[in-house]
Amino acid sequence: MKRIMTAALGAAIIATPAFAEYPERAITMVVPFSAGGPTDTVTRLVAESMSKDLGQQIVVENVGGAGGTLGAGKVAKADADGYTLLLHHIGMATSATLYRKLAYDPLNAFDYVGLVTDVPMVIVARPNFEPADLKGLIEYVKANKDKVNYANAGIGAASHLCGMMFMSAIETKLTAVPYKGTGPALTDLMGGQVDFMCDQTTNTTNQIKEKKIKAYATTTAKRLDALPDVPTAGEGGLPGFQVGIWHAVYAPKGTPKAAIDKLSAALQKALKDPNVVERFASLGTVPVTQEEATPAALEAKLKSEIARWKPVIESAGEYAD
Ligand code: ASP
Repeated sequence: MKRIMTAALGAAIIATPAFAEYPERAITMVVPFSAGGPTDTVTRLVAESMSKDLGQQIVVENVGGAGGTLGAGKVAKADADGYTLLLHHIGMATSATLYRKLAYDPLNAFDYVGLVTDVPMVIVARPNFEPADLKGLIEYVKANKDKVNYANAGIGAASHLCGMMFMSAIETKLTAVPYKGTGPALTDLMGGQVDFMCDQTTNTTNQIKEKKIKAYATTTAKRLDALPDVPTAGEGGLPGFQVGIWHAVYAPKGTPKAAIDKLSAALQKALKDPNVVERFASLGTVPVTQEEATPAALEAKLKSEIARWKPVIESAGEYAD
């Protein structure tokens, strides 16, 4: 027994200084949606800046599907060695209730690195979609509910959540076309294959400015500096229609604290990187504060968001298996 304990102690002593060198090789950061979408954009900007601080490359891997739950499930099962991370959004909280059989427990399968940003959403449509404004969209959708379709990134995605809120606000059920991420959905929207969707400003701001898509309303209390001509949903007739899509970085449960501390510090620095701040601003979002880019703030946020969305989802009664 004594020999076993001595051996274990020896291994721990050897392991600690080795971890002081972390990271010694490239890190993989999983995005649970397709390349070219809003979560992917946020991840690539942050990962590039964190790489500089950590002295190792962060390779972004897109594992899209099932509203982000496939990618999150992959990271939940990965080695907890600091070399596999996840950048997910609000879907980490909503999928906890939306999915009856989730392969992981959102609250217990991960260690927390920190929050990243809170991105507004905007209701957008194909460029030649008939309705001129939000009021017109609501009337049109109600009158044509069997022919109108809207895109989302699967159950649990932000686009699904916003679509659900829209359908419940206007008391009309529509057909959803699910994608592995809203990057490819946006391509189809621009091409006219789907009618409308709700997506983060990080994916839609440039296309709105270039008039490649139509914008009806933001999900914010006030108009956005990046899109000053787009009214809020409240202005357009849907008071209280507000939602922000927060993003955060996670690691598999059991990741050494030394690694988590280094990752949090690198995240905090990345969120102050002028290049990140400027690109975020041009896409209609701002980084969180240093205090929010911490494990404790993320844990508190995830808990409160699971509790906040549970009754909303339960009253909508839409689940996935
Ligand atoms: N954020 C998008 C959504 O939740 C998905 C994506 O990033 O592609 O709908």
